Parts: sequence; structure tokens; C-alpha cells
Amino acid sequence: MHENVAGLMEDVKAKNPAEPEFHQALQEVAESLEPVFERHPEYRSARILERMAEPERVLMFRVPWMDDRGAVQVNRGFRIEMNSAIGPYKGGLRFHPSVNLGILKFLAFEQVFKNSLTTLPMGGGKGGSDFDPKGKSDAEVMRFCQSFMTELQRHIGPNTDVPAGDIGVGGREIGFLFGQYKRLANEFTGVLTGKGLHWGGSLIRPEATGYGAVYFAQEMMKTRGESLDGKVCLVSGSGNVAQYAIEKLIELGARPVTLSDSNGYVYDEAGIDAEKLAFVMDLKNVRRGRISEYVERYGSAVHTATDASVDHNPLWALTADCAFPCATQNEISAVDAHNLIANGVSVVSEGANMPTVAEGVRAFLEARILYGPGKAANAGGVAVSGLEMAQNSMRFSWRREEVDERLKRIMADIHSACVATAERFGTPGNYVNGANIAGFLKVADSMLDQGLV
Ligand code: NDP
Repeated sequence: MHENVAGLMEDVKAKNPAEPEFHQALQEVAESLEPVFERHPEYRSARILERMAEPERVLMFRVPWMDDRGAVQVNRGFRIEMNSAIGPYKGGLRFHPSVNLGILKFLAFEQVFKNSLTTLPMGGGKGGSDFDPKGKSDAEVMRFCQSFMTELQRHIGPNTDVPAGDIGVGGREIGFLFGQYKRLANEFTGVLTGKGLHWGGSLIRPEATGYGAVYFAQEMMKTRGESLDGKVCLVSGSGNVAQYAIEKLIELGARPVTLSDSNGYVYDEAGIDAEKLAFVMDLKNVRRGRISEYVERYGSAVHTATDASVDHNPLWALTADCAFPCATQNEISAVDAHNLIANGVSVVSEGANMPTVAEGVRAFLEARILYGPGKAANAGGVAVSGLEMAQNSMRFSWRREEVDERLKRIMADIHSACVATAERFGTPGNYVNGANIAGFLKVADSMLDQGLV
């Protein structure tokens, strides 16, 4: 039994070397939980956190496929079934060349807490592959997805494990994956979320993560009597989450001024409006181009290439009121966090998972800005996935307004749970502790109820 965070981390690092993102995610949660263990030693003696740090099951498999030239390609597939104490495993699939076991374990671990916060009955999981969809034809993506699902289908099911999208997995990939599952299982079931509207998908699912991150920012700002109206907002990424965060920001009267991809960022001081956003959606979702093309169309905007090897990104050094990191993990370094604070940002709502390094998180907390960690702020996506599962079970669809209303209510409830829990455990205003503790308690109590399994 570990008496403190250092002891736990030492063992976890020895047992799981070369998984720095997983260590980072676990360390943050372990630190938040110290006051909980002081008040409730039963969690410590039942070794709940140690059990939560060990996936219930890890699947790793070969994904062979043939490219358009007839050459054989081999990728690696994964599914981490992390925790099923409160419901079937639930979490996205990521297709990106950087995918490895440690990254998926961090994502699966975070997902357990996030899903618990949504108030819906979903356990946590995550999966994916080191396959890079960039530059691949639709036929190549289809062949890859079919091969990936041929193995994954043995392990998932509507009451067992329900994957969804993440980086590199959008509507196109979910379609190919669902088609192959249906063919192999000979069943039409809600085994994936993020499905197309004509075949079991939910309205507002594509929008949910981005909208949710903005709703969460709104809730945080209300606590200080502020609103998003007229606020200058930095947004990173230009994929699913970034696009719909921008759509909602425009609707609420804010002025989003940036977008990025892995090559660089665009700064449009006049603001990205609905017409420019429509251009970006076509560029990224249909033509699958690079964000630098934005400046070819809108000459007043500036594109700056970014260098992943330096410890800061000039995007985060622009003057603004709010920041919505919506690209990937650890995209805000310690230097970036200090730049954001120094340049007037007082609200950070994370659309991406763990986009801020630990030292950056500490800087936000010390500066007492409104900082909404990803587990809380981006939970809207999985929340609407939960609503998609509910609609599939009922064989019924809710209207757009109805789903959006439920999403808003869930984000407001998550916000209230974070605020109340942070206060109850002696750190008012600290959404990191609030989210980690509130997410933990429900899962931990369920694990205690269910015995040593
Ligand atoms: P997309 O694939 O649609 O978009 C990802 C965006 O981030 C792209 O602009 C991509 O640029 C950029 N990006 C990805 N990896 C890197 C990298 N290593 N360095 C720089 N830029 C990068 O993914 P989503 O929008 O779905 O996901 C974005 C984030 O939101 C992720 O952290 C994901 O885990 C999180 N999230 C997503 C949810 C969802 O419902 N989709 C739910 C909750 C969280 P490029 O095209 O050049 O790779």
C-alpha cells in the first residue's frame, strides 16, 4: 500500500516505463486525491487508485492492409479497456502516427474520470492505431478501417465497449468501421458513437465537444459576472473540436482569431466569422488541406510556421482574453502558460485532452485564472455519445434543440460538481481538484460496492 504520491509514482514508473503521458495524468490525479484519502482511508486500504491505474484489459494487435499501389502495410492497433465500474467501456479511437501504449493509457485513464463526471453510466476506454490517415485515399482508409475492425469486433459490443472518434477518426472512419462491424457481427447495434444521422447517429454529436468546451467557459465566467460577448479568443487545432468551438464562440459574440494544425497557425485579427469557418470546414473535412491555405483565401490573415522542437508556440503569446486549446496533449508548455497569463488571458477551457503540461497547470492555478481542465471542459463529446447510446437503445431520436439543451445542462452540472467538490475539499475555485475528486468518488464507491474484481 502506498502512503504517498511519490511512492505510488515510483512503482508505476518502474512498472510502466516509457509512458510519460500516463505518468503525468496519474500524478495529477494522485495529488488531487490526497485530501480525499486523509478523510477516507478506506479508499487507500482498498487500493482503489492503484487498481484504477491498472487497465482491466489491454488489447494490442496487428493491422495489415494493402495500399493503392498494392504494397503491404502493417500498423499496430490498440484498445485499452480501463475501467467498467459504472458502465461499459467508452472512449474514442485515435489514428495518428504518434499513437503508442502510453498515450492511449493516459487518454483511457482520463476518460474514466470524465465519463463519471457526465453523470451518465459509462466506464472508460480508449484505442486507436499508429496509422496516419493524412495523404491516404478514401479507399486506403476504408481498407485500413476494415482490417482494424476485423480484430476489434471480437472485443466490443453495445453493452461491453463502445468506441467513438478522436484525432484522425471522424465521420468517414466511423462509417467504415461501423460497416465492417455490422457485416461481421450480422447485427445492427449502437456499437460505435459518432455515427451518421441516417444510421443511428445523434444530432449535435459532431458539435458536442467544441460546444461543450465553450459552455464550460461560459459557466466559469458566470462565477465572476463575465460573459464571452466581445472576448478575443485563441483557438488551436482546426479539426472537429476546434471547428465547433469556433462556431459556438461566433454565435455568442466572441471573436476567435486563431486556428492551427501541425505545421503552423493562422492569426486573423479581424476575427474568424461564419463564412471563414465554412471555408475551414470544407478545407479540413472535404479537401483535407493545410491551414496555411486560409491566408491564400483571406489575405489579411497571417500564417506562422511552428517548430515542435522549441519549448513554446507563438500562438499562445498573442494578446487575448480566452484560450481554447483544441489540438493535442502538451501543446501548452510552461513558457506558453506564462505567456498566456502575461498577455491577459483569464479563461482557459481545454477542448483537447491534457493540452497543458503540469508546470503550466500549476501556473494557471497560482494565477487564479478560470482554468477548466479537459476532463471537465471537453466532456460534452462523450456526454452526447452517451445520449446517442440512449437514443439507440430506445430506437428513437431526439431533436437538435433537445440534445443541445441536454448538453448545456450536463456541462452546467459538471461545472457545479467541480465547484462544489473543490470547495468541500478545501480548494475553492480549483477546477482540477474538483474534476479529479468528483470523477473519482463515483467510480471508487462503485468499485468498493462490487468487491475485488
Ligand atoms: P481532429 O483529428 O479532428 O483534429 C485534430 C487537430 O489537432 C488538427 O488540426 C491537427 O492538425 C491538430 N493536431 C493533432 N495532433 C497534433 C500534433 N501532434 N501537433 C500539432 N497539431 C496536432 O481531432 P479532434 O478535433 O477530434 O481532437 C482534438 C483534441 O480534442 C484531441 O486532444 C482529442 O483527444 C480531444 N477530444 C476530442 C473529442 C471528440 O469528440 N472528437 C472529445 C474529447 C476530446 P493536423 O491535421 O496537422 O494533424
